[in-house]
Amino acid sequence: MNQLTPKERMKIPRHSMIEQDPAERSRNFSEVNLGYTPELAIEEAQRCLQCPKPTCVAGCPVNIQIKDFITLIAEGDFIGAVKKIKEDNALPAICGRVCPQEEQCEEACVVGKRGEPVAIGYLERFVADYERESGKIDVPEVKVSNGKKVAIVGSGPAGLSCAKDLREKGYEVTVFEALHELGGVLVYGIPEFRLPKEIVRTEIDGLKRMGVKFETDAIIGRVFTVDELMEEEGYDAVFLGVGAGLPWFLGIEGENLNGVYSANEFLTRVNLMKAYQFPEYDSPILDCHNKNVAVFGGGNTAMDAVRTSLRLGAKNAYIVYRRSEKEMPARVEEIKHAKEEGVQFMLLTNPVRLIGDDEGWLKGMELIKMELGEPDESGRRRPIPIEGSNFTVDIDVAVIAIGNGPNPLVTQTTPEIETSRRGTIVVDPETMKTSKKGVFAGGDIVTGGATVILAMGAGRKAAAAIDHYLQNGAW
Ligand SMILES: Cc1cc2nc3c(=O)[nH]c(=O)nc-3n(C[C@H](O)[C@H](O)[C@H](O)COP(=O)(O)OP(=O)(O)OC[C@H]3O[C@@H](n4cnc5c(N)ncnc54)[C@H](O)[C@@H]3O)c2cc1C
Ligand code: SF4
Repeated sequence: MNQLTPKERMKIPRHSMIEQDPAERSRNFSEVNLGYTPELAIEEAQRCLQCPKPTCVAGCPVNIQIKDFITLIAEGDFIGAVKKIKEDNALPAICGRVCPQEEQCEEACVVGKRGEPVAIGYLERFVADYERESGKIDVPEVKVSNGKKVAIVGSGPAGLSCAKDLREKGYEVTVFEALHELGGVLVYGIPEFRLPKEIVRTEIDGLKRMGVKFETDAIIGRVFTVDELMEEEGYDAVFLGVGAGLPWFLGIEGENLNGVYSANEFLTRVNLMKAYQFPEYDSPILDCHNKNVAVFGGGNTAMDAVRTSLRLGAKNAYIVYRRSEKEMPARVEEIKHAKEEGVQFMLLTNPVRLIGDDEGWLKGMELIKMELGEPDESGRRRPIPIEGSNFTVDIDVAVIAIGNGPNPLVTQTTPEIETSRRGTIVVDPETMKTSKKGVFAGGDIVTGGATVILAMGAGRKAAAAIDHYLQNGAW
């Protein structure tokens, strides 16, 4: 690595990810991005300028030692590189796939100021895959049991990260998950073609091998309340990582017609209940085959839903978004992939009502054209309807993907936990402590819908604070 001058490094072009062909992949559920070869990874790593003060590290919410892990890749030490990442991030194969890298580490990369940034996310994914495929995944050492028990509610990235850190410190950790599968949005939301379930399962297997216990089909607030966990089941502390899984709706006429889904329901049916493998899997099917499907929204969830509908055989798959592409919250890569696969974007367009037939089935949507005004409280330009621009389009399936709110079950059954007006749990941002002694929270239930890496960071912060609390008893 030292033989190359900065000038020579700057001349190496960024290496694209190898991808499945768009025409082919738009009809299958296999992963779209196929990763780097070892040769490509080494060359990409050589683009790193080895800045004395690497700005990329501050761009990563968990401050991975990016410069150090990239140096190891450039030297061909892939296992050393993954170990370096795992000092700060337990789930690199996942983050390397789904992190909004272009807004985080890569946005801060110095190489990116004059050209394209070093592909930090792709490199992270490469070494994590290399380790998994080599079959030599290290299980972190676990300290001798300290006799204290912690309950984690929710098995998403926040809960899993919290569980790992506490188990390493010698706590008896049990994760309670409402669904029959572990992983939270990583398995029920993000589709197989972006994040294969096998990868999430491998990470969870590692936690099982460390001795973390998992209880599925266990809804806290129903099976046990938080108080029961602490008073009757003997848990010394509880971490709430229950996410924000309650879908928002548009509030327009026709939303209860047959054929209208929330993105959560649509994606869960496909991802967890394998609706796409009917009749092999006996789950309710979504008949998108040869149908017109409209997805309302512009975030990652909307892109996942619309691309899923194509894979289920949709004839036309539309994104209906009320602002322009510039304001879309979805990752740039996801928008690009959706376009390549044939998704049709109806931008600056908003639904007014959904139209049904006499038997209550969806058959069309009435839309209105929008223009952008001044920025609103979200900082994005406010969409304003253009009067008289209404038009209708025939559709058979509609998916609403305009965001989610917090699931109120745990907070309703534990009224001492303070919540905000939006229903999120209020915590001390340094310690993730809630208003109830012994109870901590983090991830989407605190922030509202955010990102995998931020949920993981919150889980780790909470683990450190739980350890502190259980070691010295002071609240
Ligand atoms: C479709 C979709 C695509 C996304 N794409 C991206 C992306 O590309 N990149 C990115 O960074 N982020 C993405 N996100 C956001 C990201 O997935 C979330 O921010 C993250 O998963 C939040 O983690 P969490 O651990 O807080 O909650 P979750 O992942 O929501 O996990 C919470 C878990 O708690 C369980 N639970 C809830 N209530 C209870 C209860 N009472 N008892 C027991 N268990 C309970 C739930 O079943 C769930 O398994 C996406 C989100 C969605 C919906
Ligand atoms: S975890 Fe995400 S932000 Fe951090 S280095 Fe990896 S890809 Fe970048």
